[in-house]
Amino acid sequence: MKVLDNLADIEEKIRIACEASGRDTKDVTIIAVTKYVTTERALEAVEAGVLNLGENRDDGLLEKWKILKDRPIWHFIGSLQTKKVKNIIDKVAYIHSLDRISLAQEIDKRASEPVNCFVQVNVSGEETKHGVKPDQVLKFIKELQKFEKIRVIGLMTMAPLTDDQTVIRKCFKELKKLQNDIQSLQLPASPCTELSMGMSNDYTIAIEEGATFIRIGTALVG
Ligand SMILES: *Cc1c(COP(=O)(O)O)cnc(C)c1O
Repeated sequence: MKVLDNLADIEEKIRIACEASGRDTKDVTIIAVTKYVTTERALEAVEAGVLNLGENRDDGLLEKWKILKDRPIWHFIGSLQTKKVKNIIDKVAYIHSLDRISLAQEIDKRASEPVNCFVQVNVSGEETKHGVKPDQVLKFIKELQKFEKIRVIGLMTMAPLTDDQTVIRKCFKELKKLQNDIQSLQLPASPCTELSMGMSNDYTIAIEEGATFIRIGTALVG
């Protein structure tokens, strides 16, 4: 399928989800997750009008960045090893996987400007998933205040892999609740206005629960 056709289908579903939840489609940004596909396919997404691209490995990002440079806006969405920060820091506009102080420290050290970060939260509690435990998130974000280059613009999570929509919805609702808790702290460097949640299988639920960035791979470019 052409990216353009997939995009038309996804945009229609976004429209319906926004309408169902009284939201504006302008408040939902699609990130095309290009980790499984070639640079050519990523370019097709950009040409279709998807200007935000997401990669989960530094080598995958660099390979595509060499060709596409700053034409797209780059998002780093995967778990990030501290030693890899220097490879990507001047290429990405957003990091979705901030989950430990040592990583914040390295970002703070390497960045020349404040970096838009999402704190990744392991809402589902699955052992295999990265992220801060929900009951540790407030403490973690308070600790981040000492880093000048860390700007917590939001929270990110991955829902459990299940067909049970109730379980998925509950996960997204919990992230939204955590966002409210953080916003009420009114920390200047952590506005936490965004929610990065929703993938190919669950983005409509995520939108209904308040997602502002959805990360779509398979359904868009796969
Ligand atoms: C791969 C990936 C996605 C996209 O997954 P799809 O199911 O293909 O849409 C989204 N977020 C993260 C963190 C990923 O690693």
